[in-house]
Formats: sequence, C-alpha cells, structure tokens
Amino acid sequence: MIIIDGSFGEGGGQILRTSLSLSLITKKPFEIRNIRANRSKPGLLRQHLTAIEAAKTISQAQVGGAALGSSCLVFEPGKVQGGNYRFSVGTAGSTILVLQTILPALLITENKSEILLEGGTHNPFAPPYDFMEDVFFGYLRKMGAEITSQIEQYGFFPAGGGRIKTVIHPAGQLKPLHFSRRKKIIKQTALAYSNLIPDRIGQQEMIIISRALNINKTNCKPKSVPSPGPGNAVIVKLESDQGSECFTAFGEKRKPLEKVCQELINQVEEFYNSDGTIGHYLADQLLIPLAMAGSGSYFTSQPSQHTLTNIEIIQKFLDIPIRCQAVSETTWQIHVGG
Ligand code: AMP
Repeated sequence: MIIIDGSFGEGGGQILRTSLSLSLITKKPFEIRNIRANRSKPGLLRQHLTAIEAAKTISQAQVGGAALGSSCLVFEPGKVQGGNYRFSVGTAGSTILVLQTILPALLITENKSEILLEGGTHNPFAPPYDFMEDVFFGYLRKMGAEITSQIEQYGFFPAGGGRIKTVIHPAGQLKPLHFSRRKKIIKQTALAYSNLIPDRIGQQEMIIISRALNINKTNCKPKSVPSPGPGNAVIVKLESDQGSECFTAFGEKRKPLEKVCQELINQVEEFYNSDGTIGHYLADQLLIPLAMAGSGSYFTSQPSQHTLTNIEIIQKFLDIPIRCQAVSETTWQIHVGG
C-alpha cells in the first residue's frame, strides 16, 4: 500500500486526483491521509467524491473513507473496464478534473469508452473545456490517443449544469513527446463567453484584449452561450511553431471586467516571457501522459507547486526519473524518463 501525505507540497485536490489516476494505471493500492489539510475547508468536497466515484466505478475498486469532509481515503483498484459511464458532479464542480482523473486509465484499456459528465465546464481554478479540447487533448492526440469530445451545455460557476461527452478509444502504449524551445507565435485568437450578463461586457473585454495583446480585432470574438446560470470567461488561444496553448480568466459578480482582462494578460505575458511551449498549467497536467509514455521533455516557465507536487506523487507510483532544470531566468526544461 502506497502511503501519501495529502498535506505536502501543493496540498490540494490534485494530490488525490493524481494518486487515483496512477493507482488505476499501475493497479497499486494507496492510502492518502491529511487530505487537503491546509485548505480553509479541509477534507473531501463533493467534486473530489465524484472523482473517487468515477475511479471506483471504472475499476470496481474497494474504497474506504469516501465521505464529505473525510481526511483519509483508502483505494484498491480492480481491473479498469472501458464502457459507457455517466458522472454528475452535482454542483458546479469541474467536470474536466473528473475526466482527467480517469482518462489516463481509459486510454490503456481494451475497449472504447463514452463518458458523459455533468457539472461545471468553465470553472476558476480548473482547466476549462476549451483548454482541455484544444490543448490537453491536442497533445494526447500527438501521443497516439484517439479522443473526441463535445460540449452539449456550458456550465459556469456557481450554477454549473454543464454537460460534456467524450469518446476515448484504446490507444495502447502512448508515444513520447519532446519539444524544442518556442521560436515564434503563428496565430492568436481570443473569445469572451458570456451568459445572462449585458452584451457590452464581452464586447469591452475583447477590445481590451485585442489592444493589450495586439490580436487582430477580427480574431477577438464575444460569444453568447446558453447555460443554466450567468457566466463570463475570457480566453486567449495561441498557436506556436511547437503547439497550442490556451489561457483563461473568469468574470465574477462585482469583479471589474478590466481586472478579469488583466489577469488574462498577465498569464499570456508570463508565457511570452519564457520561450517554453508549455504554459504554467499544462506543465503539471502533461506529466502523467509523458510518464505513461516513458519519456518526454518540454520547456516551460518556472514550475508551479502543482508541477513539483505532481512529480513527487508520480515517483511514488512509477519508477521514472523526472528532472526540472532552469535554462534561463524565465525558462525551465522538464525531462521525463532517462
Ligand atoms: P487543484 O488546485 O489541486 O484542484 O488542481 C487544479 C488543476 O487545474 C491543476 O492541474 C491546474 O493546472 C489546473 N488549472 C487551474 N486553472 C487552470 C486554467 N486556467 N487553465 C488550465 N488548467 C488550469
């Protein structure tokens, strides 16, 4: 039984989700203690329980401690079975984080899976649907995965109510992925999703982003999308000579739209300041697929706590070296495998 201290490093939900993903792939049981001990509401929340439920369902796992607020969980997976599954986060919790938990294991099963997920599709502090489809899945496809997804309903925090459908074909052994430093940006586009807020907000956001990031006005589009609750997400998508990236900031009640735009501009500028291909968030999420492939490398900005914590958890389950090396003041290289 692998023992994990849920309070170390980043100390959040990611330690649990990464442990579930790795346990499903390796079939190694684990026990996690002090779950989210340093968070204001410690222990398991509803969205974590959905990820546990999803991992349990696809692998017929034996699970102990899966209750709201619980600080300890024991997970012993059985054989992972692809198939048709439906999971509902029940609140606006992120559907994408649940999908990312079970996806690695479903890529290496023998049969196809169709996963219907209900909850949030564009949540602060989680990968938005656009990021997952265009960027995360884009790189997995380069590694040999065959995945298609559709957003059937947008779900914004706090009302949620979104729905996404994903079809995952068995990929067998994933192929390694090695990136060079980014040389040039080929394309930049932006969009502002909104629902049940005045149209001028999305329009104004697109004017600010177009000016600040020098993106052609015709490539900056406000877009109304129906959803059960109000929402606003501002997104910049980039294509470089090495691949895609996507950055997002979220509008909230009483948060000035200028502040939302500035958060987004800061993320894009951090990316431009390094010559990495992989942005701040993708850097932690690519580690599991690359570790499954046995090898990979990429340039990125300074590794986040999420990245450093993920590296430690991966090395508890898999015998694979992972190194982070600063190559300049703003660029790091991450090497997975020998
Ligand atoms: P945690 O904070 O432990 O629940 O983990 C959150 C996860 O969501 C991490 O893997 C982050 O990289 C990812 N994430 C958070 N915000 C974004 C974003 N704007 N775009 C893409 N991924 C994100």
